[in-house]
Amino acid sequence: MNKKIWLSSPHMSGNEQSYINEAFETNWVAPLGPNVNGFEEDLQNYLNEDIHVAALASGTSALHLSLILLGVGKDDEVICQSKTFSASANPIVYQGATPVFVDSEKETWNMCPEQLEIAIKDRISKGKKPKAIIAVHLYGMPYKVDEINRIAKEYNIPIVEDSAESLGSHYKNQNCGTFGDLSILSFNGNKIITTSGGGAIVTKTLEQKQKAVFLATQARDNAPHYQHSHIGYNYRMSNIVAGIGRGQMTILNKHVAKRRANHEFYQNAFKDIDEITFLPEPEGHFSNRWLTCVLLDSKETREALRLALEKENIESRPLWKPMHQQPIFKDSPSYLNGVSDDLFNRGLCLPSGSNLSDEELNRVVSTINTYFVTC
Ligand SMILES: *Cc1c(COP(=O)(O)O)cnc(C)c1O
Repeated sequence: MNKKIWLSSPHMSGNEQSYINEAFETNWVAPLGPNVNGFEEDLQNYLNEDIHVAALASGTSALHLSLILLGVGKDDEVICQSKTFSASANPIVYQGATPVFVDSEKETWNMCPEQLEIAIKDRISKGKKPKAIIAVHLYGMPYKVDEINRIAKEYNIPIVEDSAESLGSHYKNQNCGTFGDLSILSFNGNKIITTSGGGAIVTKTLEQKQKAVFLATQARDNAPHYQHSHIGYNYRMSNIVAGIGRGQMTILNKHVAKRRANHEFYQNAFKDIDEITFLPEPEGHFSNRWLTCVLLDSKETREALRLALEKENIESRPLWKPMHQQPIFKDSPSYLNGVSDDLFNRGLCLPSGSNLSDEELNRVVSTINTYFVTC
């Protein structure tokens, strides 16, 4: 059997171990310490010095705390991009609120501004103004920031920017992860940088960051004994894990360059195959190309190609199944235009890791070429 080629696997720089060793040598084996502070500073310096970062246990916990900070509670409604990973939507339900799903547009595959406005107007006419909007930069491609911001501002609804897949991307030269009223990052094992598991919340004020850290560390009031006047969570990142993050930050830009090179390589390799198309970068959008995704001419071709790759021990995956199609969310209100359903049917994510060798990339390409020659 050929060696397995993964969709996106962890890629260490070699610097991680020294930060971890330092944590052991100084006995900072806790959910606080110099690596946590250092990783937060690295992220702040990378994104924009005017923002604040709190390192957390996961992107999901960062989304949950974002909704809490925005006051989302029982029976509220929160708008969420339908085409995304379930972790974008689940925290709405943790808060006892209802997700309202909005479809995508074709230029970035992210939240459609027209459908967003239709949804907001309709929810308001039904008596409930949405408490927040969760917008996602899928696969690293920035959503239409200006259009989405304009609508959010017009109706005065805060945005939670899910930047889990888009660290290293930017829009009109501003970094993804700095556009939301609150933003979140993920460092899960498959993301562009990983701490094995982890995430962060990005805030505009120091007070918001302090509130997030307070809630993430069991909401302990300032008293010599343990006293609580809020419900707390155990959502802080550990100092060991943050050490991996500090090492990963040293090669983030290299990972972005390599993933973009993978995308270009595939695009060149398949330029004569009419059945395969790519998502171009619209003006002003810079994608980290976290995953290279292709659209095939039909669902049948997509599935046949996926199986042909699997037979060669190459991992590929259909694009995110929209939330409005998920059994758990089937009763949630949705505002649809058919785009995310079509993308789910015809889209396939190809191996995209920053650690892929030329030989591995060539194996993917020749498997796909062989499929189209023989089909
Ligand atoms: C990975 C991911 C998350 C969740 O992050 P975790 O760190 O795995 O909890 C949320 N949203 C999107 C779009 C993701 O891809």
